[in-house]
Amino acid sequence: MVMADAIRTTCPYCGVGCGVLATPAADGLTVAGDPTHPANFGRLCVKGAALGETVGLEGRLLHPILHGRRVDWNTALDRLADEFSQAIARHGADSVAFYVSGQLLTEDYYVANKLMKGFIGSANIDTNSRLCMSSSVAGHQRAFGADTVPGCYADLDEADLVVLVGSNAAWCHPVLFQRLQAARAQRPEMRLVVIDPRRTATAEAADLHLALKPGSDVALFNGLLRHLSAAGCADHDFLSAHCAGSVEALAEAGLEPGPPAEACDLDPGDLVRFYDWFAATEKTVTVFSQGVNQSSAGTDKVNAIINCHLLTGRIGRPGMGPLSFTGQPNAMGGREVGGLANQLAAHMGFDETSRDRVGRFWRAPAMALRPGLKAVDLFRAVEQGRIKALWIMATNPAVSLPDANLVRQALDHCAFVAVSDCMADTDTTRRAHLLLPALTWAEKDGTVTNSERRISRQRPVLPVPGEARPDWWMICRLAERLGFREAFAYGGPSDIFAEHARLSAFENDGARDFDIGALAGIDYDLLAPVQWPVRADASGTGRLFGQGGFFHGDGRARLVAVRNRPPASELSPARPLALNTGRTRDQWHTMTRTGKAPRLAAHAPEPWLAMHPADAARLDIDDGATVRVESDYGRALLRVTLDSTQRAGEVFAPMHWNDQFAGQAVIGKLLASNTDPLSGQPELKFGAVRVDPV
Ligand code: SF4
Repeated sequence: MVMADAIRTTCPYCGVGCGVLATPAADGLTVAGDPTHPANFGRLCVKGAALGETVGLEGRLLHPILHGRRVDWNTALDRLADEFSQAIARHGADSVAFYVSGQLLTEDYYVANKLMKGFIGSANIDTNSRLCMSSSVAGHQRAFGADTVPGCYADLDEADLVVLVGSNAAWCHPVLFQRLQAARAQRPEMRLVVIDPRRTATAEAADLHLALKPGSDVALFNGLLRHLSAAGCADHDFLSAHCAGSVEALAEAGLEPGPPAEACDLDPGDLVRFYDWFAATEKTVTVFSQGVNQSSAGTDKVNAIINCHLLTGRIGRPGMGPLSFTGQPNAMGGREVGGLANQLAAHMGFDETSRDRVGRFWRAPAMALRPGLKAVDLFRAVEQGRIKALWIMATNPAVSLPDANLVRQALDHCAFVAVSDCMADTDTTRRAHLLLPALTWAEKDGTVTNSERRISRQRPVLPVPGEARPDWWMICRLAERLGFREAFAYGGPSDIFAEHARLSAFENDGARDFDIGALAGIDYDLLAPVQWPVRADASGTGRLFGQGGFFHGDGRARLVAVRNRPPASELSPARPLALNTGRTRDQWHTMTRTGKAPRLAAHAPEPWLAMHPADAARLDIDDGATVRVESDYGRALLRVTLDSTQRAGEVFAPMHWNDQFAGQAVIGKLLASNTDPLSGQPELKFGAVRVDPV
């Protein structure tokens, strides 16, 4: 039932991007799923359903704080501008940086990028989305010529085979998993294969679970590619019309040294069963998520998957295609406006033509000439003293980045750190010189883009508390103080969205029906959830590439030859166990918001370490014992849960707990900062550790 005064908005957590009906109530807020929103049709998972329990003002940052003392906004912003302008004057534009977040709305992201890349003259702005899906971005760019998701959620309803790779969707994208399960209930012949080293809740529901050796995904999909080719499944018409390069050369380049079952440590019969199902099923969707992306070979894994869809021409048609599930509500909206340090707005890069086009559109006085530092490198630069002034927006890198001890040292030694956040006390705000109070969900106004390219509105439901302000407002006030008043004189998010939409269509050469980011047909105030590219008549686009039209200059896709590479961290007698990390069902990121809801805490009240009983017996560890987990980078104390579905030699720990909720369970402290060479995404799914009883 739609409540009469309910406001249509969007859930702030995962990349499913569920529509929410929010109604102010005497004790806060009531929420319900929006039955008209095409992402969720009224469904909400437990995190979304508990949104009303997380909007209280307890723990909120409500006033600017400078060196521990409350100050007014003018004092705070003057100091921010002084620190940035002095650093730029003395050390150049690359001595300052923004580290932003997939929690920002697209309009916040847009002005932050415009200021840094067009007016300050550096591209040192990166986002925590780097940790989430940058390998998918790089894989899409290599294969399709642009960061474009070819399919949509409706493909999950129509597929006959769904393959989930490195995705515990039952916990991490629950509403899409419910949608998939509903489709399977309607059509029991539909098959689900889960490829994941862990027997997760998602794997439990599968027709076939392939518990592959961590890091062997490329071997598995190269083996599938060869199997499909040998079985006569190549779509030669599609390949010759829409793809570049020779399949034979690809097959040769993709040859792995041994049989894939051996490389993947899988039962050969199970693997062949999967290969046969894939070969026989035209309507196949392959979903991939953090288990693929968060790897030092993440981009290659993405391309190994996409190769199989291009070879068979199974892309961009109903019920088929590769489909990236992103982590955050606006991971994709940030990508659209150049949220990553290696991109410019409207999906443009740092080639001369794009820089010139964006620079002329912005009338930018100082366009950045080259990509900036990606997240891990950015914090290394902070630690080395090369970044003199840093503004962190809406994220908690002291917990979420790998080698979190080094990140903390970097922040402690940085000459000036500003943090804008809705929460007062996080592991990162404790290390800031200046705190700026930000609005949070239910107070903000703007847009987000979900995993199927669907743009939706977040709308304010609750009054602005204290002196909190929107992120875009703070960025524009800094821009004014740096001398760029005219270019940042926006009246509100609708002005910013309108400029972003105009840029997406600016100098579109008309070679295609639409430019990839074309949003010019959208009226911000009337925006109903719509998938980009959006045509002039405001209609969206569900699927791309079914008839080719890839974004490389020749209009053709690329099959990319990739070889399997093991994880970057090596196990050794001193560090004999492989550490995998991931989410729990009911928490979000570093728990600064979901940690406030007792209902959500009840599912997993404390962090844990899942361990195979054989490993535990060898180490004389009992179920429930507290253990010390140690790597070359840090240590944590965790309680052991024996789990016979865990692969022997591998352990798993959830990544959410911060210092506030569990003093010695920050998993980021255990992980090396190894990254994918193309995407810069850190390898958060594989660390080398030892475990000892305490
Ligand atoms: Fe929110 Fe994701 Fe749950 Fe939907 S599935 S309600 S977007 S957390």
